[in-house]
Amino acid sequence: MQKHSESAIRKSFINCSKGAAQRINIPQDVLHGDWESQIFLGWYDPKSPRVGYVVVETEDGLRGLVLEKSAQKASGGARMCQICLTLHPASGVCLVSIQRSKTAKDHYSSVGTYVCSNLACSDYTLGRKKPDGVRQMEETMSAEERAERTLANMRGLVERVAEAMGK
Ligand SMILES: [Zn+2]
Repeated sequence: MQKHSESAIRKSFINCSKGAAQRINIPQDVLHGDWESQIFLGWYDPKSPRVGYVVVETEDGLRGLVLEKSAQKASGGARMCQICLTLHPASGVCLVSIQRSKTAKDHYSSVGTYVCSNLACSDYTLGRKKPDGVRQMEETMSAEERAERTLANMRGLVERVAEAMGK
């Protein structure tokens, strides 16, 4: 990613109100982190850790989503992050719901997906992190191709939300 200003990040969120976007907690280490090494930005609100944010560069500019971790506990075996396709033990992946409106909660209109619990898809994609105890699928793709795929999946998620909102 390229570096973007704080106000550009705040303006990028498509599924919350302008006022809510102004109040989003953006940690300093996200704002001043190493953007170039990220495929997209992802973080949780340090004050309410069930609420997370992702921001990605798309053909329509910077787009951000607010997401909320489901209270539902993951159980069973390995699960795959739908963004970076990394396999994790069940606890390493969580179900998040993404509202498809700018206003009050509407659970009938949300998108659900499984993502890396720590939103560190960039690190897993580029091999900087590996989940413990789970064998990954054999892949012949280069790191660059994997990064393209992760980016495409995240953009796809943004599109699914944006489409439902008539954008
Ligand atoms: Zn992931």
